[in-house]
Parts: sequence; C-alpha cells; structure tokens
Amino acid sequence: MSERHFKRIVLKLSGEALAGDQGFGINPVVVEGIANEIAEIARTTDLQIAIVVGGGNIWRGLAGSAKGMDRASADYMGMIATVMNALALQDALENAGAATRVQTAIAMQEVAEPYIRRKAIRHLEKGRIVIFGGGTGNPYFSTDTTAALRAAEIEADAILMAKKFADGVYDSDPRTNPDAKKFDELTYMDVISRELKVMDSTSTTLCKDNNIPIVVFSMDIPGNITRAAKGEAIGTIVRG
Ligand code: UDP
Repeated sequence: MSERHFKRIVLKLSGEALAGDQGFGINPVVVEGIANEIAEIARTTDLQIAIVVGGGNIWRGLAGSAKGMDRASADYMGMIATVMNALALQDALENAGAATRVQTAIAMQEVAEPYIRRKAIRHLEKGRIVIFGGGTGNPYFSTDTTAALRAAEIEADAILMAKKFADGVYDSDPRTNPDAKKFDELTYMDVISRELKVMDSTSTTLCKDNNIPIVVFSMDIPGNITRAAKGEAIGTIVRG
C-alpha cells in the first residue's frame, strides 16, 4: 500500500474555485470542468468522495462585519452562500453522471438533506458523492473548519485542499518573493508555530488532534484533483 493510499477523502473547494477568472459568483463552465474531473474519479476508482465547499465567491462574514453588520448574521449569510455553491456543484456533478447528495448543516429540507453523520457515511459507502453545504452551521467558523470537522466525523483518510494560485505551502508568499521555498512535507506544529497559510489555526488544530493529513495542492493544473485523490505526491502534505 502506498504511503498515500486514500479510501475516503474530504475535498475542500473554496468558493473562489467556482468563480473562475471573474473572481465573483458562479461560473458554470468552471464548475462543469471541476465536476467532470470529480465524476471521473468517482466512476473509475473506489474512492469515497465527500466535498466541503466554501462561499467566499458570494459572501464572507468578515467582510460584512467589517462594514458594521452583526458578525453572526453576516456569517449566516456566508453559510447560505455555501449552499448555493453546493447546489451548483451537485447539478454539474449529476450532469456528469455522478450520484450525489447535498447535506446542509442548517436545515433546508426543501433543497437538501440535513447533515446526518451516519447517513453521510452510508451514502459514501454506496458510491455517492456527498457535498456538505452550510459550513459547520455555526458563526465564527470557516469552511476549512468544516472540512476538518467533517473529515474527523466521517473518518476520512485525508483532506485535499484544492487551492487557486498556489501549488503548495511556501515559507513566504511566492507571488511577492521569488526566493520563496515550497515545502513537500510539514508537521501540524510547523504550520501552527510558523503561522503558515494552510488553513486557519482552528482547523489545523482539529486536524492535528485527530491526525488527519492535509494535502495542499493547486487546482489550476487540470488533472490535479485526480492526482491528489490517487495519492500522488503533489503539493505539500501536512501530517503528524
Ligand atoms: N461560515 C461560517 N461558519 C462556518 C462556515 C462558514 O460562519 O462553519 C461563513 C463565514 O462567514 C465565511 C463564509 O461562511 O466567511 C464563507 O465560507 P469561507 O470563507 O470559509 O469560504 P471560502 O473562503 O472557502 O470560499
């Protein structure tokens, strides 16, 4: 068994990933491209795929609260934004022939199932792609935290963090520092103590406490989601 042999993964897609170059909203062509790749993985492997999708392409709670909104209300708007993305992704995945379920952390029974851990696992075992919308359902958290939490709950083997504009974790920003060094492997403690930008610290701590590897890789290169899912050594892996 290879060092990175995953049976069940949580793929974290930021909202930005669905926006394409316009940087805002949902670009159906971009979503279709991502969905085709994920559906192909589901069709050709035994991998169980759960997806946590962000909402930053539509709304971020912090941006609202910076303009004077109540933080919790602004965060609930962000969580609802993630549900819009989840439905867009579900639609594209189903068009690509994949069986899917959306489960939301905030009940919206007309549009999706509520999050039920055992049911989510059952769907995965049946080969359905499960998309978790609505974040954790709690303000002051992020969809990175959601990925860590759901990965722990469903006992995923890894979180695959698909990034735009970064092919791994660097010691400084490669966009401003040409000498920035990319890491192939890091420990959770490296990430926390050096304040490296992998995911927020709450999420990293949750991964550390539950020993969930995080693979950070670029989704700008076509085929990279597949490579990461199949356990190829791309990007940066964070583990104990
Ligand atoms: N959010 C939240 N609780 C959660 C997950 C998300 O309050 O458990 C809100 C928060 O306001 C956040 C927004 O939803 O800014 C969108 O999520 P996030 O910023 O993580 O999306 P991404 O950056 O991945 O697109």
